[in-house]
Amino acid sequence: MSARTIQMTDALYAYYRDTTVREPAALARLRAETAALGGVSRMQISPEQGQFMGLLVAMTGAKRLLEVGTFTGYSALACALALPEDGTILCCDVSEEWTSVARRHWAEAGVAHKLTLKLAPALETLDGLLADGRADGFDMAFIDADKANYGGYYERALKLVRPGGLICFDNTLWGGAVADPADTTADTTALRALNATIADDPRVMSCLVPIGDGLTLAIRR
Ligand code: CA
Repeated sequence: MSARTIQMTDALYAYYRDTTVREPAALARLRAETAALGGVSRMQISPEQGQFMGLLVAMTGAKRLLEVGTFTGYSALACALALPEDGTILCCDVSEEWTSVARRHWAEAGVAHKLTLKLAPALETLDGLLADGRADGFDMAFIDADKANYGGYYERALKLVRPGGLICFDNTLWGGAVADPADTTADTTALRALNATIADDPRVMSCLVPIGDGLTLAIRR
């Protein structure tokens, strides 16, 4: 019964979500607007994952956050709401269209002062931060962007997050595709490689938490 992670049936998931998830109104409004964008809204994290990430911020006392892949800003808003007033999040994305939705909701929620958006390929932004002496300058990183670059984001995050800081990767179960040997698409292959690397990496303590589409947590030693 408890020797493995429980299977989440529809009925159990409905109970879990209805009974234990409290989505603040600002996040619910952003979810509703993002849903109206259609299929692309799948790129948004679930409310329970947003709640979990806010809890991680509060648990760790993180104040300096880095996000790679912001989309319409839900995960950043969930974290910003959990941050103290002097907490900051540097958000990296390439879409003016989607992050304009994010900016509006961050402002409406009264947390825009905590958030800085950098529109550029994230590898360039992260390399720029390292060149500017920002190594060890973040307490927590959340990576939820193009899967092919996850390995590159990981190596940079290991330098940008301080020792003891937390690196989070989204979509590490990839709809189950990582366990399907017949799936050799580039994204699935990149996620499998990342999962194997982190599991064996002496530089981190880690756990892949089966929430949402899989959320890997790794603490830099
Ligand atoms: Ca994602």
